[in-house]
Amino acid sequence: MAGKRRRVGIMGGTFDPIHVGHLMTAEAVRNEYHLDKVIFIPAANPPHKQQQQVTPAIHRFMMTVLATCSNPYFEVSSLEMNRPGPSYTIDTIYELVHRFGEDTDFYFITGADAIQEIPTWDRIEELLGLCQFIAATRQGCVPNVDNIKEYFGELGEKRIHRLATPELEISSTDIRDRIRKGYSIKYIVPTAVEQYIYKEGLYK
Ligand code: NAP
Repeated sequence: MAGKRRRVGIMGGTFDPIHVGHLMTAEAVRNEYHLDKVIFIPAANPPHKQQQQVTPAIHRFMMTVLATCSNPYFEVSSLEMNRPGPSYTIDTIYELVHRFGEDTDFYFITGADAIQEIPTWDRIEELLGLCQFIAATRQGCVPNVDNIKEYFGELGEKRIHRLATPELEISSTDIRDRIRKGYSIKYIVPTAVEQYIYKEGLYK
């Protein structure tokens, strides 16, 4: 009899910086989809941010480690940091398939805003064949995800899912803005991340 398939969540993101919204989303998906673990993979060189200034990957990686270390089901991978060039998700998933083997199902976790962009991603149909997508969706964003599912037809119906998450008005952009203005970021990021940001003088 075939053994139980492993279920692994992939939390991809720029994480500039990681915040409680990302953590709550990953934990909600882990519970709902009965995942064995969630691997956070900071994008070293996000393909859609080539013209944008992004904090050095080592800082984003360190903050992700600090944010996730108290959850035994969370891991952080430096896989994209070790690869030169733009961090295409298809290359990452192929690397994971190679590492984990054929008996693992992958779930790529992202936000409802980011999922809107996936038709422009590199080899997206091939990617949808390798991993399912879970879009964390606030109430107002449900039609956006449904439009994307429809765009991919049967493939979208089978491989893209949405999970309702609380209406958290938190974004990395807002956090960077708050720091520049000298506002508090307490309780929006884990304490260790807050301390790391101040110690390293990030986002000033
Ligand atoms: P982004 O464009 O910075 O994010 C768009 C929106 O989605 C933001 O509101 C962001 O919130 C949210 N978001 C991003 N990741 C999330 C996550 N894991 N869970 C919940 N919300 C999330 O997106 P990004 O972070 O740079 O990229 C997301 C992932 O997609 C990365 O792994 C990236 O490598 C991949 N990607 C791949 C390709 C490709 O292969 N061609 C192209 C684009 C993106 P915050 O700003 O608060 O995070």
